[in-house]
Amino acid sequence: MNLFNLTGKVAIVTGGSSGIGFGISKGLGQAGAIIAIASRDQAKAADAVKQLSDAGVECYALACDVTSETDVRAMVKTVYDKHGKLNILVNNAGTNIRRRPEVMTHAEWRQVLDTNLDSAFHCSAASHPFLKQSGGGKIITIGSMLSIFGSPWAPAYAASKGAIVQLTKSLATSWAVDNIQVNCLLPGWIDTPLTRKAREEIPGLNEKVLARTPAGRWGSGDDFAGVSVFLSSAASDFITGSSITVDGGFSISML
Ligand code: NDP
Repeated sequence: MNLFNLTGKVAIVTGGSSGIGFGISKGLGQAGAIIAIASRDQAKAADAVKQLSDAGVECYALACDVTSETDVRAMVKTVYDKHGKLNILVNNAGTNIRRRPEVMTHAEWRQVLDTNLDSAFHCSAASHPFLKQSGGGKIITIGSMLSIFGSPWAPAYAASKGAIVQLTKSLATSWAVDNIQVNCLLPGWIDTPLTRKAREEIPGLNEKVLARTPAGRWGSGDDFAGVSVFLSSAASDFITGSSITVDGGFSISML
């Protein structure tokens, strides 16, 4: 028995068209899963589907704004109706608005919370009956180093990423009885479009990340392939509610 084999499994990856979500989609797909990429920009998604297909992954794109509960419910049902099963959900879509708390507007706060936190709740709740009907399944959520640390520039982002760890534990305790395991990944600094923008805005960020990260490099989307396969496969069937850092040692180093 290959504990890591995902052949025939059906996975939804929100934000699978870019960065970390793309790396996860590639990893799950190369382990045998069929991937539905849920995101807004369908030109970007089509490009990702092409690249993944070229890498041997069976996948397709679905238009979905994860801040819309209506979109989310329709997207999850479409996937289930197409395959007659749903085995894996990756709540990866996320955003940040760099703003000090004293100048952050309510609309900006809501946009970050809706995208990073509420979406994970809605996607998970909408998927639950289908995962259950499929005999159980796996949910992966994405936190951050800001699930652990604070930042004067990211009050909403840190609040959303701290809360996602607690949401993960609560979903895990709720659905263990349904054979659904729910775990969280905490990325360090990963080179993606999200952080490329931060690198442009923050002078010296690149040098600080390299100096502060024991591995001495930025992470890449590919760094999420193995751990995602592990958390999506039978290899992790007795692991639930946990948070795993994928950070090159950032969170365990004083300097
Ligand atoms: P990217 O900006 O590269 O990708 C974000 C993805 O999310 C895109 O596919 C985007 O597609 C999708 N997305 C954003 N908003 C929505 C929405 N409302 N509805 C549907 N899809 C949406 O980001 P990363 O790969 O860097 O980040 C992925 C996750 O990892 C996020 O949760 C982020 O917070 C987290 N993370 C990233 C770190 C890093 O260093 N990069 C560090 C810690 C955590 P589209 O715009 O087409 O909708």
